[in-house]
Amino acid sequence: MQNIGHFINGAEVAGTTGRTSDVFNPATGEVQAKLAVASAAEVNDFVAKAAEAQVAWGNTNPQKRARVMMAMVGLMNRDMDKLAEALSREHGKTIPDAKGDLQRGLEVIEYCIGAPEMLKGDYTDAAGPGIDMYSMRQPLGVVASIMPFNFPAMMPLWHVGPALACGNAVVLKPSERDPSVPMMLAELFVEAGLPAGCFQVVNGDKEAVDALLDNETIMGVSFVGSTPIAQYIYSRATANGKRAQCFGGAKNHMIIMPDADIEQAADALIGAGFGAAGERCMAISVAVPVGEETANKLIDALVPRVEKLRVAPYTDGNDVDYGPVVTAEAKQRILGLIESGVEQGAKLVVDNRDFKLQGYENGFFVGPHLFDNVTTDMDIYTQEIFGPVLSVVRATTYEEAIGYAMDHEYGNGTAIYTRDGDTARDFAHRINIGMVGINVPIPVPLAYHTFGGWKKSMFGDLNQHGPDSFKFYTRTKTVTSRWPSGIKEGGEFNFKAMD
Ligand code: NAD
Repeated sequence: MQNIGHFINGAEVAGTTGRTSDVFNPATGEVQAKLAVASAAEVNDFVAKAAEAQVAWGNTNPQKRARVMMAMVGLMNRDMDKLAEALSREHGKTIPDAKGDLQRGLEVIEYCIGAPEMLKGDYTDAAGPGIDMYSMRQPLGVVASIMPFNFPAMMPLWHVGPALACGNAVVLKPSERDPSVPMMLAELFVEAGLPAGCFQVVNGDKEAVDALLDNETIMGVSFVGSTPIAQYIYSRATANGKRAQCFGGAKNHMIIMPDADIEQAADALIGAGFGAAGERCMAISVAVPVGEETANKLIDALVPRVEKLRVAPYTDGNDVDYGPVVTAEAKQRILGLIESGVEQGAKLVVDNRDFKLQGYENGFFVGPHLFDNVTTDMDIYTQEIFGPVLSVVRATTYEEAIGYAMDHEYGNGTAIYTRDGDTARDFAHRINIGMVGINVPIPVPLAYHTFGGWKKSMFGDLNQHGPDSFKFYTRTKTVTSRWPSGIKEGGEFNFKAMD
């Protein structure tokens, strides 16, 4: 049994509370590690140490900080296989998917190599008579990142990378489900040349999170996770005078127009709906075919694809489509929602409620499910299932279809499949959702753009990564300067008597 502590001042330290939480192997259902759970006093101590380390790091020139990012890119690539294995072991996703998780995080570190350019300020020459005006972006100091289980590499890297590149120290509170990769990343940053104390990893639960939210040294809070917690964290952090960006849950719709290539749309839905067991905030969980004929063709194309999905542990090779969900509780919740869908009248066209994997009976596997005739009042429609369940909501017109996506409380991502540019353009222009795919099922923006949803999928204003992250992790100082006339007016060389 492995024990996992905290990563403080450049090394792993054991917890002092005696409290632990279980880290499972989702494929077997076994507890594989005991994770330290920090007290508020420990958190406050770790934050104070981060504040000490931040002073020199914040004064290190941006190019030197960028070199740490450069070295980190090399180290992550060196350790890619090891990191992916550790990630899959705790999360359950397949190795290629774990590498995608790492790669999308790594790309933000690559973007951060441009920190010197991003941090250049503005200058107005001669803003008034003899007056110049300039503004600079300075680090906040110590910031906190509270992260979810579903992307244990990508999500921390999206926040820690820009925060460090801007000269902050970061205290990261990873998910208690899969903390090993964040600990490994912290160690790699030290190897890359980051001074000890600038990246602290504190493990824990609500007590640790609340301590971060109430700590006066913490100047900014980034959160990614479910919507109720996002809203709570945003309220408490901002009430305490901190800036905050909190990203929440999702219910992403894909609209399939009558002119779409149904085979392409069905392939896209399989990956977007069932990849990573549906545990992605950009998963497509609702398909909205427009017109009866489109719906029938779509169901015909989806059923054999869903039935063919290979659900197995990541150790079973690269042709595994998806693995277990993260915990026994998550599995129970998903199965409960599937039951509610049947009771509320949806048609379960692919039913795997009795799914069992031989040799892994205690694992948290959920077979793939496909619902047809879902309506907007059902729990499987209103709630984020976060599991391998795809719902088809039939629409008769484009207006009805776009209305479903617009009226849902979440607004993270969406997609449309069509061959008609005019429809696609109208959709992209009118939709009240942050990330839009046109014949692209999971439109996750690349590192140099920004990632963020609308409506109940985001609280705050600045998005993740890209230029927004450099704004979030710095504050602006503007200097107005005038110099009294000086020696350029000519020196006085004669010895003069006082008047
Ligand atoms: P979660 O909200 O349960 O947990 C997220 C973090 O909050 C964890 O570190 C957890 O320890 C902490 N936490 C949980 N309960 C808390 C409480 N009462 N008080 C203080 N802290 C608490 O989310 P999760 O299950 O880890 O992640 C899945 C969710 O994240 C999904 O809803 C998914 O859509 C969302 N997500 C959103 C994005 C995005 O960018 N919008 C990205 C990834 C995941």
